[in-house]
Amino acid sequence: RMFFEPVTTPCGHTFCKECLERCLDHRPNCPLCKQSLREYLKAGNYSPTVLLQDIMLATFPAQVAERRELHQAEMAELSNLTSNIPIFVCTMSFPGIACPLHVFEPRYRLMIRRCQETGTRRFGMCIYENGKSFADYGCMLEIRQIEVLADGRSLVDTIGRRRFRVLRRGHRDGYNTADIEYLEDKKVAGEELQELRCLHESTYRLAQRFCEHGDLASRHILMQHGPLPEKEEDIQ
Ligand SMILES: [Zn+2]
Ligand SMILES: [Zn+2]
Repeated sequence: RMFFEPVTTPCGHTFCKECLERCLDHRPNCPLCKQSLREYLKAGNYSPTVLLQDIMLATFPAQVAERRELHQAEMAELSNLTSNIPIFVCTMSFPGIACPLHVFEPRYRLMIRRCQETGTRRFGMCIYENGKSFADYGCMLEIRQIEVLADGRSLVDTIGRRRFRVLRRGHRDGYNTADIEYLEDKKVAGEELQELRCLHESTYRLAQRFCEHGDLASRHILMQHGPLPEKEEDIQ
């Protein structure tokens, strides 16, 4: 394939930006001459090699256009939020609740980078389940902020969005993927709504009592997720 967004390392070797990033996810060395690229990675500034881009465009315009189309098709595929969505297998997450992550595995570095590049800023979170690789239900997480560390690891601040059910499992470049459907709560009315309200009240009171208790577990939750949210007017 033609280079796409070629970048040149301090050792003088040229790679597609994405190909180089994927190599650097594993080790901070030039994939060709093995020279250390620790400082280059730390600077995080992969500027395209404009001269090479111009030469490619002047010499192989059709192939360059084809390569760009291929890239756009890949981006469109990666942007889909119901089929083949990326799944981070790590922890239990909930809608509206913050979920801070320390991303160090190469496959998850790639996943997070793709979420940024496509602009979806979303991926699914599921807990591990023996025999299935991950659970049947999970929660979409939205990336709020990313702090990239000098060695390429990152601290990712996310918040839970919609819950989903897994319909089909798959893989992409080392990480898990899934076809999903979003869960919608069944709305109730009349007597059932009354019952739901009572349940909501008593659960909220229990949670409140737990938070006010001040033991180690409740202090940890407070530290991680902040204070108990206010009660919402519309409980459905
Ligand atoms: Zn490449
Ligand atoms: Zn090199």
